[in-house]
This record gives sequence, C-alpha cells and structure tokens, in this order.
Amino acid sequence: MSFENVFRGYTWDEVKAGIYAKTETDVRDALARKTRGLADFMALVSPAAMPLLNEIAALSQLLTQRRFGKTIQLYVPLYLSNECQNICTYCGFSYNNKIKRKTLTGAEILQEVAAIREMGYEHVLLVTGEAQQTVGVDYFCKALDIIRPYFAHISMEVQPLDQDEYEQLIAKGLHTVLVYQETYHEADYKKHHPKGKKSNFEYRLETPDRLGRAGIHKIGLGVLLGLEDWRTDSFFTALHLSYLEKNTGKPATVSPFRGFAPFPADSPRRWI
Ligand code: SF4
Repeated sequence: MSFENVFRGYTWDEVKAGIYAKTETDVRDALARKTRGLADFMALVSPAAMPLLNEIAALSQLLTQRRFGKTIQLYVPLYLSNECQNICTYCGFSYNNKIKRKTLTGAEILQEVAAIREMGYEHVLLVTGEAQQTVGVDYFCKALDIIRPYFAHISMEVQPLDQDEYEQLIAKGLHTVLVYQETYHEADYKKHHPKGKKSNFEYRLETPDRLGRAGIHKIGLGVLLGLEDWRTDSFFTALHLSYLEKNTGKPATVSPFRGFAPFPADSPRRWI
C-alpha cells in the first residue's frame, strides 16, 4: 500500500468536475458538521464557497487556535546551494538558466549560522537545488554535523531521497522534510518539469511514504499554486495529507503560502 495506489483511484478531471458541481448548500452543510471529510473539503474550496468566505475564515481561525493556541512558528531558510540539474519552467535555479552557481563550504555555512543565530531563530530550513553529485547525502551529513549544535529544529527542502538516505539524515538530527509535489496533474507535471530527476512524477509522489517509513518526525506537503487549477491541486494535497496521517502516524502539514509569483527572472526563485 502506498499513496500512489490511493492516487490512482482518482482522476483529475472527475475531481475537478466534482468540485465545480458543489453548491452553497454543500458548503453550508460542510461548515455545520462536527468533523469534515474530503467531500466537505471539495465544497469548501469550490466556487460555491465564495459568498461564505467570512464564515469559513472564522471557523478556520477557531479550529487553528483550538489546536495550536495563539502561536506562530517562525523559521528561516538557509540556502546551501543553488546548483541544480533539473529544468523547472518556473524557477530561477533551473539548469538552463545561466546564473552563477554556488555551494557553501563548511566555513561559509558557519558564517550563515552565526548570522541567523544573531537574529534569534531556533528553527532553520536547509534549502538546495537538486544536484545529487555535488549536493548529495554526504554533503547533507557534513552540513548537519556543522549546523545541529546551533538549532532546536532542523527542516530540509532538497531533492527527494531514498529511504536509507533519509535514515542517515535523521540519525544526524534532521526533524522535518518538506517535499512539494508542485502539481498532482500528472500530464502537465511533465510539461513543467521536462528534464532531470524531478521529471519522475511517481518518485516524487512516493517521497512522503519513504519519509514515513524512514521515521522522520514531521512531513510537509504542498503544491505550487498557480501552475494548474488550484482547487483541484488543493484537493489532492488534502487527500495526500489524509493518507499520510492514517498510514504513517506522522504529523503532516501543508505549506499555506506557496504560490507562483511573477518575480524578476534574475531572482533566485520565482515562487514564494
Ligand atoms: S524548483 Fe528545485 S528542482 Fe526545480 S529548478 Fe528550482 S531548485 Fe531545481
């Protein structure tokens, strides 16, 4: 059993049609229920929900504060490398962009760590492009050895890895991995990711399963809002989240902020 089995039980077009067929009554019913399922989620992200956005926001705030209290968790990204062997049509790090490439040395990582600690951050997110040869597991292990003593929580957003590689990184102190599917529209995924290992849709789709089996503390999911129909991509993200919580017993979260933005072409990344 893996998420791919679950995913294959749905088609993009049927899910999209189901979302757009929801009515205001479906939305009101979803708001009124004590607990909500995936059919309710479809109603809440449907066009029919637009007149009820204030009610949805109020319920969302209530549930969020009940679960987390009035807290906000802040973390800071530490970019270790902008080398990348993939072509992604939306990203400034893409292999085909002629930009200066840089991978931090151990001494440079320590300089960044000092600057981040000076600002008071306890949670760091390590970010790289996808360049397995230069920025692979050996590099990550060395980076974690350097960084681990300075932070209470270390997250990573790097290329998807094999289970045994995640196990090595967890042993070095890694707590959380963020892996964004970008879009669950399989045919268009290939259009946005034409070259490199990232063009393998299934390997990316199965990454949270490998993370769960490796025993990671927390898994982050997300899509790149704006690539495809955001309502349908949001549904598949919710489906993935629901599967992981049932099957890995791990807390999984969804990044709420990632959207496709028309940043200048020379900015490091054109998504937020
Ligand atoms: S999104 Fe990631 S994999 Fe794609 S080009 Fe940018 S850094 Fe590389």
